[in-house]
Amino acid sequence: MKRIVLFGPPGAGKGTFSGQIKQALPEIIHVSTGDIFRENLKNETPIGLRAKKYMDRGELVPDDVVIEMVKDRLNKEDVKKEGFVLDGFPRTLSQAEALSNITEIDYVILLEVDEDIIIKRILGRYSCPNCEEIYNKYFMKPKKEGICDKCGALIKFEQRSDDNEETLRNRLNVYKQNANPILDYYRSKGKLKDINYEKKLTEKDIIKVLEL
Ligand code: ADP
Ligand code: ZN
Repeated sequence: MKRIVLFGPPGAGKGTFSGQIKQALPEIIHVSTGDIFRENLKNETPIGLRAKKYMDRGELVPDDVVIEMVKDRLNKEDVKKEGFVLDGFPRTLSQAEALSNITEIDYVILLEVDEDIIIKRILGRYSCPNCEEIYNKYFMKPKKEGICDKCGALIKFEQRSDDNEETLRNRLNVYKQNANPILDYYRSKGKLKDINYEKKLTEKDIIKVLEL
């Protein structure tokens, strides 16, 4: 059972990396705060309605909302039993401190990627509406144009509404402002693993990183 935090700028490939972790540890539960927010937005829940204006601008949703949401999710039985990959949280030092009161974690994986690659990854990314497999217009098109490799559904390039150039700049700035205190915090606890994620890692690399 592993409890893993994924950390890195928007577009570092946290979603893709989570998929790779799931191949090595099929039972582990992927908890993505961005996905939970988008789900809430789609269903127009109170959390979704509160988060919308921040997400549209590429700003952080207030800590109290996010922390409560993550606490709820991490306290569920499935997560307690199978462990988790936390993707998109913490994004501020107070979120990191709050997390330490919710659960132990085994390590934090920092995905490092150059900024020009990040920009292409974000502006080119899209996903299968049926199975959520992730693709990229520049780097990772499906093998057959318009058809999902994984489930066969029809797909076309469609940007997430907050994946535009202006919001992206904002998200990158927000990341840079918050990252160092969080990284120092985990480094001082000896939890940080720093990996270069400009190229997709092999399964062997992943197993090594995860200490399986
Ligand atoms: P990104 O591609 O920027 O990593 P995510 O899918 O993780 O995007 O998150 C989308 C949006 O959801 C963020 O821009 C932010 O508004 C909100 N969000 C997600 N996680 C958090 C968090 N831990 N704290 C505050 N806001 C968050
Ligand atoms: Zn699919």
